[in-house]
Amino acid sequence: MPYQQPEGFTAYCDDWEKKIGAFIEWRPGDPPGRVPGAILDLPPDAAALIANLPFAVKDNIAVKDFLLTCGSKLLAAFRSPYTATAALRLQALGAQVIGKTNLDEFGMGSSTDNSGIKRTNNPWDPSRVPGGSSGGSAAAVAAGIVPFALGSDTGGSIRQPAAFCGVVGLKPTYGAVSRYGLTAYASSLEGIGVLADTAARTRAVFAAIRGRDPLDDTSRDIPRDAPPLYGEGSPGPGGGRTGVIGVLSPEAVARALADAGGGGEAGEAEAARIAAEAAALEPEVRRGFEAARERLRALGYALEEVEIPSLKYGVPAYYTIAAAEASANLARYDGIRYGQRPAYAENPDDLVDKTRAAGFGEEVKLRILLGTFVLRSGFQDRYYLRAQRIRAGIRADFEALLGGGYDEAGRAAGGPPRMDAILLPVYPTRAFDRGPRALSPFAQKAADLYTCCANLAGLPAVSFPASVEGGLPVGVQLLGRAFSEGVLLDLVEACEGVYPLPHPPGYRALWG
Ligand code: GLN
Repeated sequence: MPYQQPEGFTAYCDDWEKKIGAFIEWRPGDPPGRVPGAILDLPPDAAALIANLPFAVKDNIAVKDFLLTCGSKLLAAFRSPYTATAALRLQALGAQVIGKTNLDEFGMGSSTDNSGIKRTNNPWDPSRVPGGSSGGSAAAVAAGIVPFALGSDTGGSIRQPAAFCGVVGLKPTYGAVSRYGLTAYASSLEGIGVLADTAARTRAVFAAIRGRDPLDDTSRDIPRDAPPLYGEGSPGPGGGRTGVIGVLSPEAVARALADAGGGGEAGEAEAARIAAEAAALEPEVRRGFEAARERLRALGYALEEVEIPSLKYGVPAYYTIAAAEASANLARYDGIRYGQRPAYAENPDDLVDKTRAAGFGEEVKLRILLGTFVLRSGFQDRYYLRAQRIRAGIRADFEALLGGGYDEAGRAAGGPPRMDAILLPVYPTRAFDRGPRALSPFAQKAADLYTCCANLAGLPAVSFPASVEGGLPVGVQLLGRAFSEGVLLDLVEACEGVYPLPHPPGYRALWG
């Protein structure tokens, strides 16, 4: 048997998959394929949370001989000739890929409705979106089809669907996990991370996939002084805990946004007003946030209100940088080297034009245009370089609270941490509707405020369920200093001890 296939597995999955459509490719019957690879030194308990279990992989992450559509019509029939390092490390531990999951095209979106391949529904309410862009991975875990899945997070794409579907979603520190085999959208912001059914499983999977990979020069080993993932405390100064958690309250966010805009340009004040409105938490999300705050207080943490002054510039800076990098990264899709091409073209330019016109969806085209605009000569200072300065400011704001990074030798550098993590919302709404009651594309982007700052700063953040309100899960987020995933997951695990993960109706626990 390829993996421990529990009684009734096939019927259970077929039923769910008909309802939610999480997978672009679904191959639970593949013969066992233990892939040779580096033997990892995981504690036996951790390895047992991965070995001989099935997992799903977002379809912008390469797995040899599986499709790699990236949710795009342009790549609808493209199969990968190689496997991403993160997936390979899990396979080497005896886990088996049983399918590739749906996503917003190239990771651009917050609903998975921007997929050019199919639609995915939220397991809690199939009329709603699963979130995005890793919506298929989140839905598959929430439904219990797989115990864990790989996703990617450029501006919130693991944490937001995890919140919408009621699972744990970890976006690691930039560089902690190899990006080899992740199809590039915005390379300086994104990384591969984990969606899973418990904090313990999230920790085990992260432990398996992290670390330097010679195939990705931006990947690095875990610094010597970083808090350990397993085992109590650490001798290094970075291992110390403060017992303090910062809270970025909805009021603090509203204050930050209230004085945004007003730069005088036409439409700017109006845009700022709409953005502030879109970032306001719906009452159910506010209740979930309060529940998480009280839970942490009851667990003995000292809570301290924080302000992040640079927050108001996060979304514009994120979309400027993400679009700029996307326009460069997506230039490779020309119909010559990859993917679907038209049957007839007049000349090479016509071939490229026709390939892209037919292959890319609206959102992707919009971002390529935006990216080429902000990179136009003469405009770079005004947009791209300014966004990079904002980015540095955001990181500095977080480091002032959370402590600095590490030097080349892995020693803790910068100031000592004032707090272990910052608690903040994930998204202003629960899983939203389709059709007329859907969030507008602009509102969806403005709502990325709470997630995109971790990507701009390169810091780790984890989203986990705080409550169920009106039949839909609400998630909250903890953000920490670089390489503090161990601290964040300790906190999630403590919360899980008093509030275990909720499950959608019809869920059966198949995985030990
Ligand atoms: N919603 C964000 C975007 O559309 C985040 C996407 C992501 O993290 N891949 O860019």
